[in-house]
Formats: sequence, C-alpha cells, structure tokens
Amino acid sequence: MDLILARNRTDLIKARGGGTLALVPTMGALHEGHRSLIRLARDRADQVVVSVFVNPLQFGPGEDYSRYPRTFDADLAACREEGVDVVFAPAAGDMYLPDRQVSVCAGEMGRIVEGASRPGHFDGMLTVVLKLFNLVRPDVAVFGQKDAQQLSMIRRMVADLDVPVEVVGAPTVREPDGLALSSRNRYLSAGERRVALALSRALRAGAGEPTPARVRAAASKVLAEAPPELELDYLVLVDPATFTEVSDPYEGEAVLAVAAKVGATRLIDNMVVRLGR
Ligand code: AMP
Repeated sequence: MDLILARNRTDLIKARGGGTLALVPTMGALHEGHRSLIRLARDRADQVVVSVFVNPLQFGPGEDYSRYPRTFDADLAACREEGVDVVFAPAAGDMYLPDRQVSVCAGEMGRIVEGASRPGHFDGMLTVVLKLFNLVRPDVAVFGQKDAQQLSMIRRMVADLDVPVEVVGAPTVREPDGLALSSRNRYLSAGERRVALALSRALRAGAGEPTPARVRAAASKVLAEAPPELELDYLVLVDPATFTEVSDPYEGEAVLAVAAKVGATRLIDNMVVRLGR
C-alpha cells in the first residue's frame, strides 16, 4: 500500500490499521540514522508511523528553531523508500492549543548535562513525545542512542507515568570517518566538519580505558588538542539511567557524552563505555 500522509489528528485516526504499530518520532531532515530507526520499527510491528514535526517547545530562545533544516519532500521520498505506512506531519498550530497550560516536567534529570545547557529542552521534548504517544498510540517507539539523555528521559517518563509503550533504543549511525549523522551536520562547512571529527575521536579514545578517571583523561586530551574553532560545552561520564556522573571505582556501563559548538553549530555525541572487569 502507498504511504499515507496524515496532516492532522483526524487523518491520523483514519490511517491507523488494526495490527501492532511502531512509531519513529523525528524532526525531519531525514538521514541514514533515521532510516535505521525506521528499519528497526519495521521489524517490530505491522505498521510503521514516522512523525515529522519540528517541535517549537524544545528549542530555547536563540536556538535554531527557525533555521532548522526542513526537507519535507525528500523526507517523504525516504519514508516511501523505507516502506513507511504513515507519515504524521502536523502543523504546530495543530499540535498545540493556543490556550494550552499543562506540560511534562522532566524533573531534576532534565536540568543536568544537556538540560543544563538547554533549559526547558527536555520538558518540551517529553511533552511532544507524550502527545505523540497519545495521538498515535504505538505499541513500540524507536529512539536513537545518539540522543542518549533524551532516550533515558523517555524511558524515565514511560516508567514514571505508566505510559503503555515499549521503548526501543537504536545504535548511533556514523559516517565512515566517525562523525555521528545529524540533521545539523549540513550547517557545517568542510573545514568545520573536519574540526567536528574531534568529538568522535575523543569518545573513541575514552572508550578504550578501564576506569572513569582514565576515560575522562583520554577523551579530554583529544579535545584539548582540537583546533580552537571547537568550543567545548561539556564532556561527562555518566550513569546511563540517571545521567549523574560516575566516579572511581565503577563497574558496568557508563555513557561518555560530549557537546561542543563548531562555528555556529552545536553538536552532541556519546558512546557507551564498559568499565571494570
Ligand atoms: P531528530 O530528527 O534529530 O529529532 O531525531 C529523531 C530520532 O533519530 C531520535 O530518536 C534520534 O536519536 C535519532 N537519530 C538522530 N541521529 C541519529 C544517528 N546518527 N543514528 C541513529 N539515530 C539517530
């Protein structure tokens, strides 16, 4: 069956089939990373819905909401190629009532690490994700490990608010040279792109080390040697479930996460590190 484009909630209700449903929420400007999520969703359910919505609530003042890449025709073509059943692409006015009051509060975890740099971001993100869950009513929802804190916060919301959905995390898709795919990579000049490679290099350097102190030291060294166009925001090694910093001695998985500005573009990346034995 050809792809159905649902522009509003009425279209969406009509498009919903009878079997199991997997949702892949996106902000569009789709790339191979998004496609990998769609393929995972395909394997997990009878029907796949991809939402394409640049959510104004999760952008702060001075962030890139108005210039965020919007490539809707190419996104539709990509979804068609990947065998997506429904693309849900509402207008902002369709998602949010003009007199809306109630939203999701991400709690303390929403104010640390990425949340410290982007106040309100996780509240806005969780609010739209919960709305998408309520509108689409998926059995499964697929999110990328690329946005590791986002994935943890969604798992937290689902547990804390008893949301009846299974959350599936998908590995980060990278360019052959290590750069994590991101819709924002298209902002980078060729020179900035080379500078941005320091992020994944730092993560790889840290990921080979056995203790928190050595992971941080190895990753920091790479970032310290990066060209001055790279402006580091944070480098942290955190518990994957809480995003609080881990310290020596530590055994198990941790997330080494980095954020930096390269020119005018803010990039984030992370790797899961296995520590101890
Ligand atoms: P976005 O459109 O940037 O909001 O991302 C939509 C979904 O795609 C999120 O769950 C992201 O974590 C995921 N995603 C973004 N980049 C990648 C990537 N390089 N590899 C895997 N998933 C990704």
